[in-house]
Amino acid sequence: MAETTLFHRDPSHDYPVITRGEGVYLYDEDGKRYFDGIAGASNVTLGHGRPRIADAMAAQAAELAYCFSVHFTNRTAADYARRLTAIAPGDLNNVYLVSGGSEAIESALKLARQYHIQRGNAQKQLAISRWRSYHGATVGALSLTGTPAMRGPFTAWLPPFPHIDACYPYRCRYSGCGGTCNLSCARALENAILEAGPQNVAAFVAEPISMGGSGGSVPPSDYFPTIREICDRYDILFIADEIVNGFGRTGRYFAIEHWDVVPDLLVFGKGASSGYCPLGGVLVRDGIRQSFTESDDLFQHIFTYVDNPVAARVGLEVLDIIEEEGILEHVQRVAAHLDDAARRLREPHPTVGEIRCFGLILGVEFVQDRATKQPFPASVELHKKLGANLMKRGVSVGATGGGVDFSEGDDLRIYPPLIVTEAQIDEALSAVEEELTRLESELGLLTSA
Ligand code: PLP
Repeated sequence: MAETTLFHRDPSHDYPVITRGEGVYLYDEDGKRYFDGIAGASNVTLGHGRPRIADAMAAQAAELAYCFSVHFTNRTAADYARRLTAIAPGDLNNVYLVSGGSEAIESALKLARQYHIQRGNAQKQLAISRWRSYHGATVGALSLTGTPAMRGPFTAWLPPFPHIDACYPYRCRYSGCGGTCNLSCARALENAILEAGPQNVAAFVAEPISMGGSGGSVPPSDYFPTIREICDRYDILFIADEIVNGFGRTGRYFAIEHWDVVPDLLVFGKGASSGYCPLGGVLVRDGIRQSFTESDDLFQHIFTYVDNPVAARVGLEVLDIIEEEGILEHVQRVAAHLDDAARRLREPHPTVGEIRCFGLILGVEFVQDRATKQPFPASVELHKKLGANLMKRGVSVGATGGGVDFSEGDDLRIYPPLIVTEAQIDEALSAVEEELTRLESELGLLTSA
């Protein structure tokens, strides 16, 4: 778009103008097709262009588009809450509905804070999170986020929340990892709690499968049970950020189910509406709800779009589609194919350091030297070049840098709509393979072209 008054994130970038979407594809105004390898912003889980969801939205908007949750409630939001609590693990039997991930994280933080105050623990104000994480853009969420570049300009505004190492087995700095892992990265939470003083710590926040710097890293089977134990020991609430992981991305409704752990607050967004409208929320354990009931305390927090009926109607439609189309089973099946196909990239490509695949989340980390895991200098801009070349040929992927030490490190991420087929995965991966070959050849890393 040559002339625009839109405030784009990157004013110097020439953004393709998208006019329509269908399934896993987006189309620009010149008719060029793009494979949407990151499902919009990981939110368009059920694919683009579903008239059924659009129709449900329109019907709800015609009947009741809005009522203010401070004065009224509505049956659509209540129905949605009932459906959500039926699929949620454990006694996460209560739902606070908002309009997106950052709002949901802010809500969870404030719920945790008020809960501790109600129980006479007003000193508990810190939330601990992990480096190499992203939990949202608003100030509370950004103070949890462990990405220095994003925190940078706003550091002075952020409360001093402690951060621990991410669980990043490929580059674990603790001894024993990769052999007999002693879960030092989980135990780091206990050290941080003791350092801050358990009486000062309200919550710990983590994504089950991190989409941050160490994208796609899978914590060992004891990681979250150990986190749960530590949180319980010090009366700290465990907040699971399922904003990307939730609603089928890992082949279960919620990723934390793979560890058989029940968080105190489970935060969701993105796939809840499959991107058809802004929707997010917090699933809340009974004990926390009870503390508000017993203290007769107002939740001192409100957004205009809490319990929005149109968003809830979309959420209901999404849950119906997941069930009717067997989306969880489909994800389990195609994820196995994605894993197999992606692993075939390793052998011919010297730059491929690690391939991580869990559900429909693929992370590929590139290195200059496989033996030492030395990353490329940031000046090579490997991830940027790979991402841009793929985009030119109509394959949109996540290409990020700085995953190793916040400066160096190159990652490729693919997390397509959950309806992706095996053939579409193969097509996208063969584009990745070709562009990687071209780049490696330009870098002089391939002996024969
Ligand atoms: N948490 C995680 C893990 C995310 O990936 C994101 C967004 O990408 C957020 C929170 C914030 O969600 P939103 O952008 O909807 O505010």
